[in-house]
Amino acid sequence: MAPTSLPIQKVKNIALVAHDHKKKDLIEWAQWNKPVLQSHNIYATGTTGRLLEDVLEMRITKFQSGPLGGDQQIGAFITEGKIDFLIFFWDPLEPQPHDPDVKALLRIALVWNIPTACNRATADFLISSMLMEKPYQRIVQDFTDYQQRRI
Ligand code: PGA
Repeated sequence: MAPTSLPIQKVKNIALVAHDHKKKDLIEWAQWNKPVLQSHNIYATGTTGRLLEDVLEMRITKFQSGPLGGDQQIGAFITEGKIDFLIFFWDPLEPQPHDPDVKALLRIALVWNIPTACNRATADFLISSMLMEKPYQRIVQDFTDYQQRRI
């Protein structure tokens, strides 16, 4: 499969998700990075989004709560090129009822080569990257080839 590339614009479409025991962490992180986050488009799963709205004081596109399908909605947006950046503080110490959805979201983020942070340190490095202020071309496989090979 030949590689191709897809754009991430200067203003990024960032999805934020946090499991319950990680919400405090994400809210603190968002508060710390409020000016940067305010300059991008923000999406979130239901409960995370409601908490973030108070902190960021901006309009957030909210999906369903994660266990009700919100992770899948974010995954769908990634495949459609409508979300191109993921901050996902998932909980490695608690079983989740929607564990298959969590795995599916992480997998699809990898397939589409979008920047993904699953912990605070990685999120700090991502958000302070000089690429946050520029457009970027992310390399992905040529999925046309992939589809044709499977027919
Ligand atoms: P929530 O969903 O923001 O609605 O809590 C997050 C998740 O559990 O995936």
